[in-house]
Amino acid sequence: MALVVTKFGGTSVGTTERIRAVAERLVARKLAGDDVVAVVSAMGHVTDELVDLANKVCDDPPEREMDMLLSTGEQVSIALLAMAIHALGFDAVSFTGPQVGIVTDAVHSKAKITEVRADRVKQALAEGRIVIVAGFQGITPDGQITTLGRGGSDTTAVAVAAGLGADVCEIYTDVDGVYTADPRLVPTARKIDVISYEEMLEMAASGAGVLQMRSVEFARNHGVVIHCRSSFSDQPGTIVKEADDSMEQAIISGVTHDTSEAKLTIRDVPDHPGVAATVFGRLADANVNVDMIIQNVSEDGTTDISFTTPGTDLARAKRVIAEVVEELGAREWLVDENIAKVSLVGAGMRTHPGIAARMFAALAQAGVNLDLISTSPIRISCVIASGQVEQAVAALHTAFGLDDESVLAETSPACGEGV
Ligand code: ADP
Ligand code: ASP
Ligand code: MG
Repeated sequence: MALVVTKFGGTSVGTTERIRAVAERLVARKLAGDDVVAVVSAMGHVTDELVDLANKVCDDPPEREMDMLLSTGEQVSIALLAMAIHALGFDAVSFTGPQVGIVTDAVHSKAKITEVRADRVKQALAEGRIVIVAGFQGITPDGQITTLGRGGSDTTAVAVAAGLGADVCEIYTDVDGVYTADPRLVPTARKIDVISYEEMLEMAASGAGVLQMRSVEFARNHGVVIHCRSSFSDQPGTIVKEADDSMEQAIISGVTHDTSEAKLTIRDVPDHPGVAATVFGRLADANVNVDMIIQNVSEDGTTDISFTTPGTDLARAKRVIAEVVEELGAREWLVDENIAKVSLVGAGMRTHPGIAARMFAALAQAGVNLDLISTSPIRISCVIASGQVEQAVAALHTAFGLDDESVLAETSPACGEGV
């Protein structure tokens, strides 16, 4: 008998038919003798619709109220799933995040889980029930409802798996697993069978939204093995775990892209010690995440500073920068939302020199201009114009030999056509 924590994303519970299909899958697991917990997202695009509703009544909704609103989406799907299981003649109980003791810090809209008090889940499992838990939400020690950032149900699932000491955390989604690139953008992308936490973390951090970055971080810190797989088939998906010798050592594991960031530039800021500390200190105080930073060579005692930030933090970043520009006596500030980041991720970069040169050459050949560049030991990222993202990702995927040959064979012209 195993203890399995499963997670079903928005598409997997997008309609009542799909909720019934999830119920059947969970009941089959229960009948096979496993203890079953399911963490569930809001149905389909409900979270997006709730965000739209908020924006219709308020330009800048208070974050506490936003979390109050967004957390309702998951409450609908957990109750419906529990009902669908009852309809099949099995016992299920649904709990909100606060009810099962998902305790978080107080950073609304991107709270971090600090503790999982899983006693209530354990008790319900001991009573033989299938347990359904609302993803994406938690509660602060002083009783405020929080949410964990978009895609946060993945993190709830991993945290519950860690809290229960589950054998595996199965994340069911609308693709077969983690691919070498987003399969919606690159039809020749290949499914990866096994990937290390380290590489998955870099992929998630640089735009592979199939797993929320925090969930991978949490899994690595608590040794939870993730199985990311399709909710529409029984095929094995991708295992995410600690690197070991049995893993295939590809130099490059994947190409990722992210169109959700924006670039802010402060022009002609006086160049003296403490300026960068002021700008980025103030952004940190306002909980703005900063990704890439570039400062130009100083001319005439002034310089330009550019940085990128997630779209979700942009409104706050603009507010801070408008104030800081005034205080520091900079000339002006600009925002560019038409940017994209493309990244190459692979542990083999550590031992294979020249990957950056090959990456830049492939992008140049595809006519893609590079704006900002940043690296980690196993990742190289370039900011480009958002309109060129598709051709950039495809060019890199091909240049690093990641294309699925069988898909290429199907889509290329038949032999002898003289191409
Ligand atoms: P869920 O609602 O199940 O959480 P998400 O939309 O968050 O699903 O994540 C699944 C989506 O992630 C896929 O439909 C796919 O388009 C996207 N995706 C981006 N990069 C990758 C990748 N490298 N491998 C697989 N899917 C990816
Ligand atoms: N419903 C939330 C979202 O759409 C959380 C999740 O699906 O993981 O981001
Ligand atoms: Mg998701």
